[in-house]
Amino acid sequence: MTLLSARDVTVSYGKIAAVRQVSLNIAAGQVVTIVGPNGAGKTTLLSALMGQLPLQGDVAYFGIPLRNPPVERLVRAGVGLIPESRELFGSMSVSDNLRLGSFDRMRAGARDGAVVLAEVFALFPRLAERRAQNAQTLSGGERQMLAMGRALMARPKLLLLDEPSLGLAPLVMRDIFRTIERLRERGVAILLVEQNARAALRIADYAYVMEAGRFVLEGPAADLARNTRVIEAYLGVAAADTAQRE
Ligand code: ATP
Repeated sequence: MTLLSARDVTVSYGKIAAVRQVSLNIAAGQVVTIVGPNGAGKTTLLSALMGQLPLQGDVAYFGIPLRNPPVERLVRAGVGLIPESRELFGSMSVSDNLRLGSFDRMRAGARDGAVVLAEVFALFPRLAERRAQNAQTLSGGERQMLAMGRALMARPKLLLLDEPSLGLAPLVMRDIFRTIERLRERGVAILLVEQNARAALRIADYAYVMEAGRFVLEGPAADLARNTRVIEAYLGVAAADTAQRE
């Protein structure tokens, strides 16, 4: 089943198109990544797919055409949004930030709040240890975990994840990427926008390379990781050596 399909999507700031005619698909259980340099339009595209910026083109979630949907509608349909800004409530505790993530489900009658919270704490033990702490006092990695945990509280089928590794130390980043793998094992599909092409291509099933607003290459992530152009532009010499040795 296709969870998200976008056809010929263009996103503009005034007269300037930051995203030009891109098309993508995400199937159930897949991790799909968009990699590319600073300013390529990755965040702009993801924000538009999250309903935060108007777009032109055709977009369908779970087979239902939804152009420029309100954020609440997407969340209710099963899309989890984790914007680059994280958008946490700084003066609220970790637990309360998490509970807000399940607010809509609870209001709709779900009774498994405690179970879902326990699942999120099992996935992120650090958050469990810090459950009473205010979000604004968390480290960068913990904030990212909280943003992911809050999105997971809504039991999404698809997560849209913007630059989860941004500003994180390598070890913390590794934890975040491991979590993405564990989510995939649980059947959550993920659209991952990343500047760290190496890490993203390692865990993704399928990848798009974005430059100057367009998708210039796409294919299975393992193939792109061996593509000379991708290696030269995004993975560097160390990766070229590894590819040659393989
Ligand atoms: P980064 O990885 O640095 O976040 P990106 O690939 O996500 O880069 P975008 O942030 O989407 O790129 O930016 C794409 C282009 O759109 C850039 O040229 C940027 O300057 C421009 N842009 C982004 N936000 C705005 C805005 N609010 N108004 C006008 N132009 C913008």
